[in-house]
Amino acid sequence: MNYLQYYPVDVVNGEGTRCTLFVAGCTHQCRGCYNQKSWSFDAGVFFDQAMEDQIIRDLQDTRIRRQGLSLSGGDPLHPRNVERLLPLVKRVKTECQGKDIWCWTGYQLAELNQQQKEMLAYIDVLIDGKFIQEQADPSLVWRGSANQIIYRFSL
Ligand code: SF4
Repeated sequence: MNYLQYYPVDVVNGEGTRCTLFVAGCTHQCRGCYNQKSWSFDAGVFFDQAMEDQIIRDLQDTRIRRQGLSLSGGDPLHPRNVERLLPLVKRVKTECQGKDIWCWTGYQLAELNQQQKEMLAYIDVLIDGKFIQEQADPSLVWRGSANQIIYRFSL
């Protein structure tokens, strides 16, 4: 898996101060996509063990207290990305007590396959669905178009 961007301190992608990872790769091809360069799975740089360890350390850092981790993209729930993200989200839940995980995906909750659903056990807030330009609304919070749904599983 590649990633495009990692923000160790972020206050715009989810509630509170967060760590945010933008993964590479998305096949939804939404018209009006805000970040078309994220579609390629080869964009950005390789997500290696050192990067995973860095995220865990940042979440454990008590000098700048983060509420949790945000996963965006690209699509974190594309099967190719799920494979690499599962070990990360498992570590967040076991090694970073009390941190929440937010995830943005172009898939709808109801269409997730078994492998993608494995991620749901670790995700606290899921924002689902493609970006639909005709339903775009800048006044919406945490989502770009009205069709997208915010699921709060454990908050
Ligand atoms: S799901 Fe997101 S990243 Fe993928 S094409 Fe749609 S808006 Fe772009």
